Amino acid sequence: MLYRKVPKNGDDLSILGFGCMRLPVKNGVIDESRAIRQIRHAIDQGVNYLDTAWPYHGGESERLLGKALQDGYREQVKVATKLPSVLISSRDDMDRYLDAQLEKLGTDHIDYYLAHTLTASLWNILTTFGIHDFFDRAKEDGRITNAGFSYHGLPQDFAKIVDDYPWEFCQIQYNYLDQEYQAGRAGLHYAAAKDLAVIIMEPLRGGNLGKPAPPKVQTIWNEAETSRNPVEWALSWLWNQPEVTVILSGMNEEAHIEENLMLAAKGYPEALNQKELGLVDRVAQTFLELMKVGCTGCGYCTPCPSNVMIPICFELYNTMHMFGQLDAAKFSYAIRMSGDLSDGVSGYASQCVQCGECLDKCPQHIPIPDVLAGVASEMEDSGLEQRLAATRKMLMTRIN
Ligand code: SF4
Ligand code: SF4
Repeated sequence: MLYRKVPKNGDDLSILGFGCMRLPVKNGVIDESRAIRQIRHAIDQGVNYLDTAWPYHGGESERLLGKALQDGYREQVKVATKLPSVLISSRDDMDRYLDAQLEKLGTDHIDYYLAHTLTASLWNILTTFGIHDFFDRAKEDGRITNAGFSYHGLPQDFAKIVDDYPWEFCQIQYNYLDQEYQAGRAGLHYAAAKDLAVIIMEPLRGGNLGKPAPPKVQTIWNEAETSRNPVEWALSWLWNQPEVTVILSGMNEEAHIEENLMLAAKGYPEALNQKELGLVDRVAQTFLELMKVGCTGCGYCTPCPSNVMIPICFELYNTMHMFGQLDAAKFSYAIRMSGDLSDGVSGYASQCVQCGECLDKCPQHIPIPDVLAGVASEMEDSGLEQRLAATRKMLMTRIN
């Protein structure tokens, strides 16, 4: 494991952080023993930054992390969690949530505490409620050690928030497709120049950059002298930048953990040469031409009152366009949206009644109902019923 320093406090953080947003699940709930095993294994291998948040796994992620950090693990790591900004309606709320989080995590302090999912307007509201005073006092009384924020706002608003509090760190969405999106590369450089540690979320853009590359992209990767798989390209590109402190990875498969640990052992800054950086730029351009929706699969837009499975609709829609797997995506759409593989409740894009309830919840500012209309028209053609019947039959055959 390699480590990078937090400029304002000298902490050495592992360049790979463990994200607890997508822990392994069994029968609809966190597979506790497996998740704890995974977290402890990552710590044993040198990971020392663990990130969770109030809403992850319906509020159970923090509790699980607290359990995983018993038996001597808490002392080995830095815990990061987040004030649920959108739930705050008073100064007292801030203390109430923090105290509840300390209890759930079974600890007396949070090492890295963030205001969650900030945009300019949300920051203004929190300011009115007294968030500056909250952070100051929570630091003074020792409940938190370092203050930061995670960002989902517009590029032009990022610097104002950086300058509005003496933060130790921030967390931004950044990957080779999002260089000009939200904080983007300019934000990364701005924050680093102000001595903030920068934690990276969505390094694989909701996992999409780690999937087998579509043919057009693979052709570009094939030009590289050093062969790398898509995950290695995406993570190496990030670690190549010295302004990056930690990359958060939501790792819920043992194989992914092993791969990420292996890559983190060689994640040096400025390790890619100019030719390789040029290949990444061309791949990014190709992806952007293929991608239909900039959905990261965060799920903040759910639940939808009409039960539309919004993130899955967009995932399959993107898969269809980016990876050229027309039939596979349509068959997958037919069965997954039917609800047969989950709770039996269907969630097709055509179920959207355009109520608009999801719009303000999307940190990517996707015009969800409009895009869903496009999904419905492309994925729900006259062959839908036939595909559903065929897939059901195939599944029954497999089971029997
Ligand atoms: S606009 Fe459509 S997708 Fe969004 S919450 Fe309403 S019904 Fe659901
Ligand atoms: S549509 Fe927006 S809120 Fe919903 S999963 Fe995608 S990125 Fe997240």
